[in-house]
Parts: sequence; structure tokens; C-alpha cells
Amino acid sequence: MDNILPAYNDPLFSILVIIILVLIVAISSFVVGNIKEKNKHKTLNSFLESFNKQQKPLLEIEEMPFEPTLIKPLSLLAQAFSKQGEYQKSINLNLYLIENIDSFFDKEKILEQLGTTYLKAGFLKRAESIFLQILHKHPRNIETLYNLGVVYELLHEHDKALNTLIPLNILEEDTKSLEAHIKLNKLLYNRKLSKEEKVKELEALLSNKHYTYRRVIQALFRLDLEVAWNNIKLNKIDSILDILWFLPSSNLNLDIISSSETLLAIYIAKGYIQPKDVIPKSNIFAIDTIINVKQTGIDNVDLLFNYGCKKCKQHFPIDFTRCPKCYAIDSIQIKESLVEKKKQTGYSLL
Ligand SMILES: [Zn+2]
Repeated sequence: MDNILPAYNDPLFSILVIIILVLIVAISSFVVGNIKEKNKHKTLNSFLESFNKQQKPLLEIEEMPFEPTLIKPLSLLAQAFSKQGEYQKSINLNLYLIENIDSFFDKEKILEQLGTTYLKAGFLKRAESIFLQILHKHPRNIETLYNLGVVYELLHEHDKALNTLIPLNILEEDTKSLEAHIKLNKLLYNRKLSKEEKVKELEALLSNKHYTYRRVIQALFRLDLEVAWNNIKLNKIDSILDILWFLPSSNLNLDIISSSETLLAIYIAKGYIQPKDVIPKSNIFAIDTIINVKQTGIDNVDLLFNYGCKKCKQHFPIDFTRCPKCYAIDSIQIKESLVEKKKQTGYSLL
């Protein structure tokens, strides 16, 4: 050993060996780390590539030679895809048809379909530009004017939404409820108005038949409890039962509730008020059933609400001001059903 390493006993030699070992470890871990990083990069790239590959050839129609006989079947297919929520496929088909059809008259319906698919898919700016393109050529297209209004409403561009009503009025469409709907949105989103100003305006709208009671009272419950309770209309309880049901107990007005048998019954059923000798009746089947069941000692019945659209008959678990499916306004139908009470209750709709 001494022959091979003559300075083996030299302490300086030991230090040199340690330094060399540290360097070897550092270099090898650097090399291994680099290889791992490269492998990771490769895997990520191939993953993204596979994703692109899956997305791109959804329908390889770009290369397909166009024939006028394809218009009808492809348009129907695009419609079916849109209905199924396969928006990208529907958009691709519509774009292919639009690119290959020259006359506006022939492609107007396809442009409408493309616009509504963009709207449903949430591409609001693209939907807007398609609808404007249609209206540029055909300003009397009523359906497109309504759809453009929906786009502006979703973009919170209320003045532009109101402007779509001008040509609709000229075309003799009854837009009074739609105008009220947009103006109410504009009022609720107006940040320049104080809470008091909004409450005053909302209270005035309660006597206007074009404004839905549910929307106005819901806004009032958010802004001013006292004004809201003072404007409870007992003949319209059906349309706000869920709002009343989910009010936190701290938001109740006991004076007003105790003056109405219906309101009293609702909050006895909810469990916020203890019944006295005479049990009130609400004439709302679900509420009276809960109270009857409570009297037998069972206290685990709750209400579950779901929301239907009068126009398209679709049902949704949450409420809406415009039907998410068909975009109808004032079409909500509140349906309550009895369910077993869960431990976590008491959220508010406000
Ligand atoms: Zn609907």
C-alpha cells in the first residue's frame, strides 16, 4: 500500500481523498438529477401531446371535400352535439359549414347555431361577435336580438342589453317584462347607488307588475330586513317559501310573523318558534305535514327545494333568474319536498 500510495500517512493526503469523494458524490447527484429532470420533461411533453392529439382530431372534417348535400346532416349533427354539451364538436362542424357556404341566406341558421353554442359554452365575446355579424346582414332577426341581450346580460353590460330592446319593440315584440328584468339587474349591480337608494327604488318596484315579486323581495332581504318584512305579501308566499325557510333565525321579525298564521306555521315547522295551544295552519302541504309530524314527537323532517323552468320543464338544484337551459325569464317554479333532516342546516339564499 505504501508503495502505491507513498503519502498514505500524510494527513494532507486524507483531506485530498475526502475532497475528491465529495466532488464525486456532487457530480454524480448532479448528473442523476439532470437525467431525472429530462425524463420528467419528456413524460410531460408526451402527456400534453397525447392531450392535443385527443383534442384535435375530434372530427377530421377540415380535409373533407364539401358538398351542398352535407349541409343538412352536418347541421343536424352540430345541433345534436350542442344539445349533448359537446360544444367543441358542434363549433367545429358549424365553422366547417360556414367556411364552405357562400350565401348569407344559406348560412344564417348555422351562424345562429354557432352563436348559441358559443353562448352555452361560455364564450360570450365570440357569441356577441357572431350575433352582431348576423344582425349586420339581417337586423330583423328576432331570435338573435334576444340572444344578444342574454350575452350582454351575462357580461353585465346592462345598457347594451337594454339597447337590444329598441329593435325588438320596433318589431312589435312585448318586451316589458324583459325590460324590467334587465333594469332590475342594472339596479342591483349599480355600485354608485347607496344601500338606502337601492332599497327605496326596490320598494317602489313592488307595485310594478312587470317586476317579479320574488326577485325584488329577495334583494330587499339582502339589503334591509325591516323593509323586506314590511312588504311580505301573504298571497305570494308560495313564490318565496325557500327564501323564508333559509332565513337565519336572527333575521326573523317576530311581530310580523306572529300576526300571520301562515308565517307562524312556517317557522314552527322550521323549529325556530315553539307552538302554543293552538297550532296554526299554513295551507302549504309540506309545512302542515312537518308540524303534524312534530306533534307526534318526530323532529327530523326538513324541506328540500328544487327549481323548475315553466318553459323548458328542466329542473335545477339551485334557483335562477334566467333559466340556465333555455334562458327564459320569470319562468322559475319552486318545488318543495319533505326529506330527513341533516345535521348541517341553516344556510341562507341571500
Ligand atoms: Zn328553461
